[in-house]
Amino acid sequence: MSERLVARSPSPVAGSSSSAADASSAFDDGAVGVYVHWPFCERVCPYCDFAVIAARRPDRALEDRVASAIRRELEARRADFAGRRLASIYLGGGTPSLCRPETIAVLVAAVRTAFPTDASMPVETTLELNPSTTELSRLPAFRDAGVDRLSIGIQSFDDRQLKRLGRAHRRPVALRTLEAARDAGFDNVSIDLIFGGPDQTLADLDRDLDALLGWRPEHVSTYELTWEPDTPFGRALARGRLEACDEALAVEMMARIESRLEAAGLERYEISSYARPGRRARHNARYWQREAVLGLGLGAHSFEARTAAHPHGARRANPRGLDDWLAAVARTPARAGALETLSLETARGEAVFLALRQREGLSARRFAAEFGAPPRHFFAAEIDDLVARGWLVEGRTAPGDLVLSPAGRLVADSVAAEFVAVGAARG
Ligand code: SF4
Repeated sequence: MSERLVARSPSPVAGSSSSAADASSAFDDGAVGVYVHWPFCERVCPYCDFAVIAARRPDRALEDRVASAIRRELEARRADFAGRRLASIYLGGGTPSLCRPETIAVLVAAVRTAFPTDASMPVETTLELNPSTTELSRLPAFRDAGVDRLSIGIQSFDDRQLKRLGRAHRRPVALRTLEAARDAGFDNVSIDLIFGGPDQTLADLDRDLDALLGWRPEHVSTYELTWEPDTPFGRALARGRLEACDEALAVEMMARIESRLEAAGLERYEISSYARPGRRARHNARYWQREAVLGLGLGAHSFEARTAAHPHGARRANPRGLDDWLAAVARTPARAGALETLSLETARGEAVFLALRQREGLSARRFAAEFGAPPRHFFAAEIDDLVARGWLVEGRTAPGDLVLSPAGRLVADSVAAEFVAVGAARG
């Protein structure tokens, strides 16, 4: 992609172009979010299939080497997003809180220097943190480094669950971590919660929700445990050594989480995400809204700004191995990742299912601005079927808009599969 000119297509049907500086449109906010992947974790959880490496704390030389490769990749890749305002920084992983605060400060400063900012729109800067007593003294320094939001991987407050999930921490450490986060002045804290773990009951989940709500988090992300085939949990499931949560119980848990969190003032604004007013995760929303994201580090994914070469968007996936990624960055830092150009059909399917994950659903107007016609023009049969099943509501806010019904939210993955399958079949 040219650093001077980003050709854009307000309607891929019609096609046109404009500079990156005026990329803003009905379906592109003209900004960029930056994701930085820190690959180390103190141990690898048995259900995890992210790009992670077990290292309680990498030695300084390795930490510096990875950080400097991230900066090199940033320098080379920024041209692809030239002219875009910086909207958010997300330091994820892995466990970026294993880094020294100096390293976090250097990375945050490098990203902030790479793109213009707008004083009226603060750059949301999130750090993922895993509960561990040794990191707590670093929290004030992380704040000084520019981090204004913490995403804490609590997952459960129940020691039995934490042990079964293979997590490195226990309840007392989780509590101390939350206390330290508040003491350090963080007023935007997100808690991750896993449900549907081995042998978890509804009463266990209720106790987790009691403990979680006691901390009055600004944001909560909830995930049903997934059994990825290439993980110890996935293999244990295949061999019958572990049993997945019963589907009916998982649905009951999802409904319980929604009713309890909503009653406590946390709005379910996305299938897995709850927030108090004004505390939605702005970086995460960029993925659901298919806005530009620059991903740095091993295994990171970028959602490239749309250009004449890929008018429907493209993803760039960095190598998942540390040595492979380091070698790729040393060789061709601007092109360390493999590019997948999205077809028109794939982009349309993704636009529908990603929008349906959000509380506001799919705006027919925004969809038509990008694809030339409202969703019904392409998906009439699927929409009629899902409306008849009571999973989808059409035209609630404006003609042609689509939103999941309460029943549809419980089967969001099945609804998504319909639109993605149609996209692929017609691609
Ligand atoms: S802490 Fe998170 S990223 Fe690290 S191994 Fe566990 S699940 Fe994976």
